[in-house]
Amino acid sequence: MRGPCILCLKPAEPLTEEHIFPEAAGGNIAKYILCKPCNDKLGHWVDAPYVDQKHIQLARVTYKIPGKRGNIPQPFSDTYSIDGFDSQLKVKLDKNFAPRVVRQAPKIWVTEDGEIGLSLSLDITDRKDIPKIIRTVLSRFFKSEAGIRLEWSDDKKESAIQRSIDGAHKIEPRSEQIQSPLHGSWTIELKALFTEYVKVIYEICYLEFGSAFIDSLSGERLRAFLTAQCCDEPEPWELIDMAKHLNIAPQVPPNLDDFIKHLTNGNPYTHHLAIVTPAGVVCSMLGMGAIFHIRDLVRTLGATDVATVYISSITEGKSGIFSLDELLVDHQ
Ligand SMILES: [Zn+2]
Repeated sequence: MRGPCILCLKPAEPLTEEHIFPEAAGGNIAKYILCKPCNDKLGHWVDAPYVDQKHIQLARVTYKIPGKRGNIPQPFSDTYSIDGFDSQLKVKLDKNFAPRVVRQAPKIWVTEDGEIGLSLSLDITDRKDIPKIIRTVLSRFFKSEAGIRLEWSDDKKESAIQRSIDGAHKIEPRSEQIQSPLHGSWTIELKALFTEYVKVIYEICYLEFGSAFIDSLSGERLRAFLTAQCCDEPEPWELIDMAKHLNIAPQVPPNLDDFIKHLTNGNPYTHHLAIVTPAGVVCSMLGMGAIFHIRDLVRTLGATDVATVYISSITEGKSGIFSLDELLVDHQ
């Protein structure tokens, strides 16, 4: 398929399949509307920051949605500190959310009576590696300036390594310390959500209104916004000002809430939705959403007869493109 790409507007580019809602967030409605470079750009600068948000990652864990490489992200894989324990001890949660002590760079020092002191921080599951780790770090130390200064014979070095290994085996694991809370924090990047809504709305409007939308003032503004986000340092912008400029309201209107709940069997958190109404487009993704008023489209296209619902369920629910009339009759 060739055509104008709806982002760069180049007329005869080969078109590639674009997932309206990101595939890595469970989106399953795809259309040939973007050239490869634009598809890659939106994937990198718009979809990826969106699917990296913690609440999306959590949905991906809950509903087992793998990415392109087959991996499901662990949303809480940051490093945590532990209450009432020295700051050197750090913990990570593995893919099954089990806490594991993060291996720290070993500390080695020479004591006053000329012995070697060694401190290691390891997870209990690394216990079998202790001899290897100690041998490696001490051998490296003996080759360093401080180690050479000791002027130890090979036998003395070997017996120090052996004593350290024996000593380490005698230390009781302190896993009970991990009963206390883990402290970490995470952030939801509203701009990443907003930018994704703009992308979805832009693509949905094109599917509904065709090239007349691309040529309209709304189309032009949304396209300029999206294009401007596809770089390392986009111009800074304020969420509210930008929403006004693009005619986007931050919430799903309350009268549609009930309808959305109906469409999603009462669980909007498992669905991506875009609803084209006479007044504009509503986009709700995993329970969070935005509405875009297409005033100039109502005027220039007579859009009052347009009414379509795009539903992409990330569970077993209804997915596809439906007529709003049909779904509304069903609702009443
Ligand atoms: Zn393009």
